[in-house]
Amino acid sequence: MQPTKFIWFDGKLVPWNEAQVHVLTHSLHYGSAVFEGIRAYQCSDGSSAVFRLEDHAKRLINSGKILRMQIPYTADEIAKGVLDLLKANGMRDAYIRPLSFVGYGEMGVYPGNNPVQTIIAAWSWGAYLGAEALEKGIRVCTSSFARSHVNTSMSKAKAAGNYINSILAKIEAKENGFDEAVMLDTNGFVSEATGENIFIVRDGKIKTTPWTSILGGITRDSVMQLARDLGYTVEEQQFTRDEFYIADEAFFSGTAAELTPIRQLDNRTIGEGHAGPVTKHLQQEFFKIVKGENKKYASWLAPYSL
Ligand SMILES: *Cc1c(COP(=O)(O)O)cnc(C)c1O
Repeated sequence: MQPTKFIWFDGKLVPWNEAQVHVLTHSLHYGSAVFEGIRAYQCSDGSSAVFRLEDHAKRLINSGKILRMQIPYTADEIAKGVLDLLKANGMRDAYIRPLSFVGYGEMGVYPGNNPVQTIIAAWSWGAYLGAEALEKGIRVCTSSFARSHVNTSMSKAKAAGNYINSILAKIEAKENGFDEAVMLDTNGFVSEATGENIFIVRDGKIKTTPWTSILGGITRDSVMQLARDLGYTVEEQQFTRDEFYIADEAFFSGTAAELTPIRQLDNRTIGEGHAGPVTKHLQQEFFKIVKGENKKYASWLAPYSL
C-alpha cells in the first residue's frame, strides 16, 4: 500500500506513520470496531467528488449505534473530516476508510469506559477485483461458510468482527481458485459476498437479496434507484443458488468492487459468460454518475477541489 501524507485521527491530521495505537487496544482483541469504505472520483470536468458521502457517514454512526459504541462525532463532522483529509493529502480520487474503534483502557469483553476513537485514512485503490474483472467478469463459488444468522452478528452494522466470517469465505474461495465467495444465509438462500451485495438478472428483471442477513450497501441502493429510473423492474427477493445458476446475468455491487460482473458460479457459466447487456448498461451509467456526468444525480456527490 502506498502511504499518503496524513491520517485524520480524532479530529487532527497526523502524519501517516504516526497514526498508531497500543497493542492492547480493545478492538484489536475483540473485533469491536465499525468502518466505512467510500470512494472519491475525479470528475470529467477536472473537479473531484466523494460519492454519497453523507450516507456513508450516517451509516458509520448507525453501525456504532447497533454495537452500542458512542462515536463522539456527528455524521456531518465525519463527512467534513473526509473532505479535509482529501484536500490535505492532495487526492483527486481515493478509497476512503473511516474506522471507529474501542481504544486502550480496561481489558475484557465489556468495553466499559474505554475511549471510542476514530480515524479516517485514504489511499489509491484501483478496481478491487482487478481491472479486467470489471469488463470480463469473475468466477465465484458458493461458500461452505454460511452468513451469520440475523441474531448472531448484526449484519446491518459494517463491523470489523463480522469480517471473520468474510475472511473465512474469502480464503476458502481464493485457495480453491475462485475470485470471490457467494455466501448463503442460515436458511440456505443467497445472502451476499464477503464485502459485496448480489444482483441477478433473469428475463429482463433484476433481483437482489432482501435487507435481512446482508449489509445494506450504498452501491446496492444506488443500483436499485438507477435501474428503476432506467425503466427496469427491480425486486428485493430471496433466491436460491440454483436460480443464480440459471440467471442470464449476475453482478456484485460495492464501493470497493463497484459493479463487477460474475461470469461463473460453481463452474456453471452465467448467461453468455461475460458482462451481459443489463449489467453493462448499469455499469456505464453508474460510472457516469460518480464522475459527475449525469446532473440528475448531482445530490449524490460531495464535490471538492484541491
Ligand atoms: C461494505 C459492504 C458491502 C457493500 O456496501 P457498499 O455501501 O455498497 O460499499 C456489502 N456487504 C458487506 C458485508 C459489506 O461490508
